[in-house]
Amino acid sequence: MIKSLIFDLNDTLDNTNEAIIRAFEAVLKKHFPAITQSKLQKFAEELMVFFWQADRLADLSYPEWTMEDIIKHCVKKWANSEAIEIDIDIFTRDYNAIRKRHLIIKPKMAKLIKGLPSYLLKFIISQGNSKGDIIDLLQQSNLAESDFTEIISTRLFKEENKPSINILKYILKKYSLKPEECLMIGDDVCADLMPAKILGMKTVLISNYVDELSISDSQLPPLIKKYIG
Ligand SMILES: [Mg+2]
Repeated sequence: MIKSLIFDLNDTLDNTNEAIIRAFEAVLKKHFPAITQSKLQKFAEELMVFFWQADRLADLSYPEWTMEDIIKHCVKKWANSEAIEIDIDIFTRDYNAIRKRHLIIKPKMAKLIKGLPSYLLKFIISQGNSKGDIIDLLQQSNLAESDFTEIISTRLFKEENKPSINILKYILKKYSLKPEECLMIGDDVCADLMPAKILGMKTVLISNYVDELSISDSQLPPLIKKYIG
């Protein structure tokens, strides 16, 4: 029986990627007033991908980078790849000023949390965000820290980033849970679901970027055939 739900925060409970895209759209519009709507969206989506690339690079090699450094790196790389002339410092400053404005807990997720039975333990695991920022975000959606059993930021663990077996083991030990009593819900197979599954938890993938549900190797050939006709 499931006794505990463990939620990833970024892009599972909240709308991180959508917020990044909306914020880039706003800044692109300011810097390129004549840009068409479709180009605006395409550029903003591409910038989001460059953002995550820079974010991972910072995690791996440049832990001293601030958010502004990460954005600057991303904007510079994107502008180079598109051969676009841009004032990177001003573009970055403008983006950084509004980047949190579009971030919310997804309304359907807020409703889900509110409606869950009280006997269930509920956890948030977040990469990088401070606990204070997470609580602020919850409050904007009429949720509270008390709606969760514990909010866990990877920042509380020394040299521990997702994917993390240790953070999941910390939950199991502290709350005397067996892995099979836990359901891990996340948008990233490697970062969220892989360590949970390895420990024996149940896992759910939630993502806007997947067209087919998980399939086995042997199901792939007929699927490809379906696509290529
Ligand atoms: Mg995530």
